[in-house]
Amino acid sequence: MPRVSVTRDGRTTLTAFDQFIVKLHSRCNLACDYCYVYELQDSGWRARPRTMPAAVRHRVVRRMTEHVRRHGLRRVRVVLHGGEPLLAGAAVIDEFATAVRRSVGAAGAHVQLAVQTNGTLLCDDMLDVLLRHDICVGVSLDGDQQAHDRHRHRRGADGGERRGSHARVAAALARLDSPRHRRLFGGLLCTVDLANPPRETYDALVAHGPPAVDFLLPHGTWDAPPTGAGGTRAPYGDWLCAAFDRWDATGRGVRVRLFESVIGLCRDGTGSSSELLGTLPAAVAVVETDGALVWADSLNAVADGASHTGTNVLSHSFDDVLALPGAPEHGIGSLCPTCRSCPLVDVCGGGLRAHRYGRGGGFANPSVYCLDLTRLIRHIHRRAAR
Ligand code: SF4
Ligand code: SF4
Repeated sequence: MPRVSVTRDGRTTLTAFDQFIVKLHSRCNLACDYCYVYELQDSGWRARPRTMPAAVRHRVVRRMTEHVRRHGLRRVRVVLHGGEPLLAGAAVIDEFATAVRRSVGAAGAHVQLAVQTNGTLLCDDMLDVLLRHDICVGVSLDGDQQAHDRHRHRRGADGGERRGSHARVAAALARLDSPRHRRLFGGLLCTVDLANPPRETYDALVAHGPPAVDFLLPHGTWDAPPTGAGGTRAPYGDWLCAAFDRWDATGRGVRVRLFESVIGLCRDGTGSSSELLGTLPAAVAVVETDGALVWADSLNAVADGASHTGTNVLSHSFDDVLALPGAPEHGIGSLCPTCRSCPLVDVCGGGLRAHRYGRGGGFANPSVYCLDLTRLIRHIHRRAAR
């Protein structure tokens, strides 16, 4: 559970981070058309170094170690991210993971290392480096070949025709599911597209044998809503309900973080592990390749620079970020009147902060996915009550 301070009016602020997203590489070998780095409002990636320089990597490790010591953290998660983090290369990953385990581990925290990758560079040599450091692997996959390749393409050479990436990802997942590497397999992350049928998409994901699956809604705001969101219907809610029914009917054989979060929050309000739901903030610090400390990537949907904090690990600690006057507030007290009076607010929490932005009201709106979240939460609540 994140460390938070709660004010009398129900606002919560973070007092420590327990998860660190470290962007080892700022570019990507794919060109997905919904990319949250390159295709939203923010353009900060253009000026950043491709690979995080050694001086920045060393400082990140030092800052994390200080933070663990200062707050007496017993458990932290460090996620290698990008762009595509594996483009940083095996040597950089090897050196960084060694330093994290040695320094942050020595400060007294159990360190869980993970990487979130598009999967196309998961060759045997890279998997062996990840195995050496026990780095859990999450792979982005949107379903079967047609579903996945709808958005997740490789760049065409010299601007030529784009080619899908599904075949390479499927081959990598077979390597990851082998006896040697299986224990690294963390799960699959699927971005929902209404054009892809939900039951078939769920089946295509579990066919690769993941221990867990998570669903992500496309990022957007009221000013630039994702296709189908923000209207008078709830197509994403319908999609997720159908996927939930498939998960339920097939014996819930894999963990689905979003569904398990709704079940836990409906049942006894236990903390959500999905950043999409709940009233507790995600205790996540994000470090870019130049050392810049930014708020969540989802804010890239809001405006150019909306995720920027003006701080950098080279000159600021993680506590400096927590103390910034503009730090996002969380909790029921920070929501708009509609959300505060909503009967589902303890479960929904107003959805992801970025999804509330727009209509001239800043973040003081319900989520652009309000009807979808309502539909999903009520559906799961009814199912759980049966
Ligand atoms: S793989 Fe990820 S970082 Fe790369 S283009 Fe696709 S969404 Fe963006
Ligand atoms: S976004 Fe909608 S469902 Fe969620 S708390 Fe606000 S009003 Fe309720």
